[in-house]
Amino acid sequence: MAQHFLLSAAARSLSLSAVARMSDEEAAVTFQRIRWSDNGGEPYCPRCGCLEVRKLATRSVWKCKGCSHQFSVTSGTTFADRKRPIRDYLLAIAIFTNGAKGHSALQMSRDLNCQYKTAFVLAHKLREVIEDEQRKTTFAETTEKEIDGAYFGGTIRQENEAEKRVDRRLADEQTGKRQVVVVMRERKGRSLPFVFGKESDAIETIREHIPVGSIVHADEARGWDVLHAHYDMRRINHSVAFSKDGACTNQAESFFARLRRSEIGVHHRISGKRLSLYASEMAWREDNRRVPNGAQFNAIASMALKHHMSREWRGYWQRSAR
Ligand SMILES: [Zn+2]
Repeated sequence: MAQHFLLSAAARSLSLSAVARMSDEEAAVTFQRIRWSDNGGEPYCPRCGCLEVRKLATRSVWKCKGCSHQFSVTSGTTFADRKRPIRDYLLAIAIFTNGAKGHSALQMSRDLNCQYKTAFVLAHKLREVIEDEQRKTTFAETTEKEIDGAYFGGTIRQENEAEKRVDRRLADEQTGKRQVVVVMRERKGRSLPFVFGKESDAIETIREHIPVGSIVHADEARGWDVLHAHYDMRRINHSVAFSKDGACTNQAESFFARLRRSEIGVHHRISGKRLSLYASEMAWREDNRRVPNGAQFNAIASMALKHHMSREWRGYWQRSAR
């Protein structure tokens, strides 16, 4: 039998210990190479694009000759206003990368010896960056797609005494916080999840992203019936078989397996407000599961350093304290 990809040496191209041994200077150079990869790693002005910049003698800051703007390797990016040494951010990305089902903020705070709040914001910044990247996904007309939905959140805590317990499957016993993640997954392509109140709310979004006339695989849920007007639908009844007559949604199910395991095994509880971020993170991990971890690390670092400052996560705790 062929060796599983993740067991091969090729899958391990990133070493946490190598990152941990880096001096801050080396870490800064690594960041610089990734951020300005489109200019051979040489810094240029993020404000006006001028290539003529001068490094200040006293600090790791450059000054633009064109507009006098001063910038560091992280200014203007998702890591703007950083308070920790650059190496810690590289480490955080490396640790985040290596968690195939995600990484909890609490665990990261122990790994980095930083406050929980710091790790929480850092991880969410990376998720936001990944989500923005994942949302750029476009689907070709000719490929086959799978759609599926799975419900998250809103379950109630069961009562201690058996006679007070209720059937948690009944909708009216729900807390109203239950949401559905609907994923569109292109076979041999990308996965694009969105969060809705109920499955049928996803129709419009599906139509926005999947070109008319595509072959679309879906299960027997009634909500998908209206899609027959726009797509060549292949329906699979999961109570009969997982794959039958060429119809199956197994790849969409694989995405949900990862997201569910992340919820149960890593985070234990995912806030309904942030469900979309976690879904996007798992979609990206699913799509890149056969990419060596070093390349995944470079991809996440590059997305983060090319990403504008986070409106939501920059100064998150300062704002929430007010
Ligand atoms: Zn400039």
